[in-house]
Amino acid sequence: MSLKEYERQLEELFIDCEKNCEQNGKVASYIPALERVDPDLFAVSIMDTQGRSISTGDVDFKFTMQSISKVVIFLYALENFGEEAVFERITLDPTGDPFNTIMGIQSTTEGNVHNPMINSGAIVLSSMIAEKDGPEALQNMLEFTRTLTGDDGIYVDVEVFDSEKSTALRNKAIAYFLQASGSIHDTEDSLDLYFQMCSIAVTVEDIARMGALLANKGVDPFSGERILQDSNVKTANAYMLLSGMYDASSRFTIKVGFPAKSGVSGSILAVVSDRMGIGILSPPLDSRGNSVKGIQLLKKLSEHWDLSVF
Ligand code: GLN
Repeated sequence: MSLKEYERQLEELFIDCEKNCEQNGKVASYIPALERVDPDLFAVSIMDTQGRSISTGDVDFKFTMQSISKVVIFLYALENFGEEAVFERITLDPTGDPFNTIMGIQSTTEGNVHNPMINSGAIVLSSMIAEKDGPEALQNMLEFTRTLTGDDGIYVDVEVFDSEKSTALRNKAIAYFLQASGSIHDTEDSLDLYFQMCSIAVTVEDIARMGALLANKGVDPFSGERILQDSNVKTANAYMLLSGMYDASSRFTIKVGFPAKSGVSGSILAVVSDRMGIGILSPPLDSRGNSVKGIQLLKKLSEHWDLSVF
């Protein structure tokens, strides 16, 4: 099928979803800056493993990565500190818990292991990065995100960062609990880095390009250069498949069938190995914190183009 034909079909599915997808989601309000976003924003971008891309909707709109950054944090830790060191701090098991679970961390503190796709694990890895990289941590993470997205303009949206930092009672509770149980050293540094990563501004095209890199086993689709180790990409994709949509992950895997990671900005990163990366934005969320329209569009794409890995 030609790129033009893919583009035509994407357009058709997008318009169909705009009209007929369920619209019962609610924009995240616990981070005040996110509540001010237009709920009707809708965008999708797809890049294949040869670097060809198609996009439609509000493609230029910048939103914050939120939990999509958990994949970036995880990959950074794996690439820079190695699997052995990372798996001393996080667990190999999937989680069936909500993203901001407190119950879940209490039951896993023995051995101090946490899932990197939910807040506790991402805060543990942010702590590890802050400890090892010191004052360079944020700069290193920004550079890494620029490399993954191919976007040199990547920056932290300070308004969203301040908004989250000043209201994050639940994440502070998680971090203090982690510190009390010896999983992290410094609550303030760990949370700052974690919130900064959540507040990185991107477009759906940035997300699609990162997805294409993950679909292409860590090799840049344009230059052919290896950016990430194949084994780390496999690990990250497997985690996304098992836990990327939080407690809706099994349902998503059954209905849609490929790795994805959502963020409370209404964003989704999806990876169809050897084929394409997908970036989506539609801010209204379901009760689990996943984009309502985003999931429905991914389901349509999966069915239409037979994208399930199963
Ligand atoms: N910054 C958000 C938080 O920690 C990210 C959560 C999400 O996207 N699910 O609460």
